[in-house]
Amino acid sequence: MTFFERLYLGEIARGLVVTMYRFWRNLTLHALHAVGLFKQVSAAVTTQYPDEYKQYPDNYRGSHRLTLKEDNSVRCTACFLCATACPANCIFIEAGEHPDPEVEKFPLRYEIDTLRCIYCGMCVEACPCDAIRMDTYVHPKIWGFNRADFIETKSVFIERSKTLAERGRNALMEDMIEDYKKEEAEVWDRFEE
Ligand code: SF4
Ligand code: SF4
Repeated sequence: MTFFERLYLGEIARGLVVTMYRFWRNLTLHALHAVGLFKQVSAAVTTQYPDEYKQYPDNYRGSHRLTLKEDNSVRCTACFLCATACPANCIFIEAGEHPDPEVEKFPLRYEIDTLRCIYCGMCVEACPCDAIRMDTYVHPKIWGFNRADFIETKSVFIERSKTLAERGRNALMEDMIEDYKKEEAEVWDRFEE
């Protein structure tokens, strides 16, 4: 790199030109659209999350859920294949003996540390009984105040399956956005006290 390149002044100037061009282009177009002109030329629109959000595609790998049998018990047989396949080593399972002699084992505890999870889907691929899925159409929750807030438990995974079955594909995202709004309001209340 030459001395001039190492100063990065050229790149900084180039970045500013691109940013200012986009800013003024969009501002001008939105102003013209407001008075009914140039509507055929599209301007960038920011999705006003969380008041608006885009639906994730059907193949999006979202938060995990444990699938359920007809009696609402988990399909998982605590075989540890998902935990073994997990490259981030973030699945914790404690196996217990099932009271039903037909079922060998079930998870007393099934937890995923979502701060370590890389959402690769290897656990879903490894499961021989379709007991874990990531088809929840919701991203991992990204707001917490300590590590424990990011560890998802068996009851969370079960609840997700029930919510999806009862209220459809948008239900988990709607609940998450409501949670964010509530938590945000609480944080602002604390600031104002
Ligand atoms: S998605 Fe990947 S990293 Fe996350 S729990 Fe499953 S296997 Fe582990
Ligand atoms: S989720 Fe599937 S792979 Fe993981 S322990 Fe349960 S049955 Fe085994």
